[in-house]
Amino acid sequence: GHAPAKLVAEGLYVNYGGVAAVRGVSFTVEIGQAVGIIGANGAGKTSTLKAVLGLVNRRADKLAYGNVDLTRTHARKIVREGIGYVPEGRHVFGGLTVEKNLLLGAYIQRWNAETRAQLSEVYEIFPVLAEMRTRLAGALSGGQQQMLAIGRALMSKPRLLVLDEPSMGLSPKLVDEVLAVVQRLNAAEMGILLVEQNAKLTFEATTYCYVMENGRIEIEGSADDLRADPRVRKIYLGI
Ligand code: ATP
Repeated sequence: GHAPAKLVAEGLYVNYGGVAAVRGVSFTVEIGQAVGIIGANGAGKTSTLKAVLGLVNRRADKLAYGNVDLTRTHARKIVREGIGYVPEGRHVFGGLTVEKNLLLGAYIQRWNAETRAQLSEVYEIFPVLAEMRTRLAGALSGGQQQMLAIGRALMSKPRLLVLDEPSMGLSPKLVDEVLAVVQRLNAAEMGILLVEQNAKLTFEATTYCYVMENGRIEIEGSADDLRADPRVRKIYLGI
């Protein structure tokens, strides 16, 4: 498998034409750490994740996963280095079976011993996906599709899992299920970078968090400190 590594972003920028979406952001995910980025719609969270994954043009003083310079690495190669990505809105292929969707997440998309072993592991984490392996992904509920999107990312055996708003559109019960999965993966020493509008979920799933506003990180600290921070309580927890 891949060696686990630390993710470091320093002075990260993303521009879309004239729009400065990410403006000099710095953050770190230590090996095996769970880190959160919270912020409102349009704060630049998705763009930050896409910058890590090599899915948008970006520049940075430093953007590295261990000794891999991500600014010089193709998106496909970044996944092979061990960073898994669960995009916002799930993006499962509704017309393909659950199992085909999972297979698409493996970095070698063909059946071999490694793929089968990884598939068994994903089915062990998500028994519901095993039950529904031959069903079309489009027939799954929103919560099941979110589990499928996470399962698909796990097929590439990541050591760091990057999740973009996995709670979006889910009922509180399903949000708890997502939380349990993230906690379970992190307990198995997988690094987590979780982007969310749901601050409560983020503070439970992670130990260190960044608050993003207008393309910048305005507040950072331990999840416990942020939970107690009056600004965070007012704006993000509605207390
Ligand atoms: P959301 O919760 O909606 O995903 P976000 O915090 O992830 O919000 P981004 O999606 O990163 O924020 O967007 C940051 C800013 O960049 C917003 O002003 C958005 O309108 C703009 N933006 C995002 N993608 C593009 C694009 N492809 N072209 C132009 N502007 C974009």
